[in-house]
Amino acid sequence: MFPNLPRLSLGFFPTPIVELSRLSESLGGPRILMKRDDQTGLALGGNKTRKLEFLVADAIQQQCDCVITAGAAQSNHCRQTAAAAAMVGLECHLVLGGTPPIQANGNLLLDELLGATLHWTGADRKGEQLSAIAAQLTSQGKHPYRIPYGGSNALGAAGFVVAMAELQQQMQTMERSIDAIAFASSSGGTQAGLTVGKALLGMEVELVGIRIDKAEDEPLSYKAQLAQLATSTAQILELSDCQFQPADFRVETAYQEAGYGIVSDLERSAVTLVAQTEGILLDPVYTGRAMGGLLDLIQSGQFQSPQTILFWHTGGQPALFDPKLSLKEPESTAGDG
Ligand SMILES: *Cc1c(COP(=O)(O)O)cnc(C)c1O
Repeated sequence: MFPNLPRLSLGFFPTPIVELSRLSESLGGPRILMKRDDQTGLALGGNKTRKLEFLVADAIQQQCDCVITAGAAQSNHCRQTAAAAAMVGLECHLVLGGTPPIQANGNLLLDELLGATLHWTGADRKGEQLSAIAAQLTSQGKHPYRIPYGGSNALGAAGFVVAMAELQQQMQTMERSIDAIAFASSSGGTQAGLTVGKALLGMEVELVGIRIDKAEDEPLSYKAQLAQLATSTAQILELSDCQFQPADFRVETAYQEAGYGIVSDLERSAVTLVAQTEGILLDPVYTGRAMGGLLDLIQSGQFQSPQTILFWHTGGQPALFDPKLSLKEPESTAGDG
């Protein structure tokens, strides 16, 4: 697919699809399948592996000698970028919001283990200093390749166009069809890529993004950002007459009120339920919130038997080991975002 774009192999694809029959039974709801992108295999896996296959290939094609990206202290994107860079012998610079904790754990511990250089930027939590730090690297004679926050540009999103083709193939082999796909939506590359893939492949499934980040001072509404990103993704894939509008996206915004990385009862009960009915680990920031949202949509009758819903597990489990994101503490908060 897309032979004009360079692509590396960084993981194990296709990722498995499993049926969560004990979970559906406990809800008396629709059939629930799960796509296990937590099993992509790149340093504990996750959805960013798909984006990085295109992004890091582009870095190599452009003859860069290091990659630089940004995220929160517990960024899964940063951890997988550090692993991808190590795999191909590129230096990795991570621009992290907040201040260094006394003891690194979860994703941050892995960033260090994978050899990334960390740049802490305090209150600038969304990569505001990425360009300035990249410019410093350039002035030191390096050739940095910039990967945006969450890996969400057109090239990164292309990874999820490919993912949709992978899913279509699996559904055909399994002789199954699905009515909707639910997933965590944050920097948008996943949702934009799935949407382009759905259009390209003529799939009928409904895409339900569950918003993770609280909308604060975003210059564009999230749906408008998704529309722009999907349109530019279609452009680089040379699907020329493919234009997307904000109304093309379903984004559930009822579950992000606690703020990014704040573990509330929603996440705690969803992570616990899936662990104890299926033996599958979700994460406290993304998939816990997205599953909490899906369970609420099921409980309110928006999805019901005999429908089939696919939950796209996007990874993130290393954050389970950050005490700031503890599922046990009733009032735990994440100071590092
Ligand atoms: C980044 C991430 C997401 C969100 O994907 P976007 O493409 O940024 O919307 C969901 N789940 C996990 C575990 C992630 O790390």
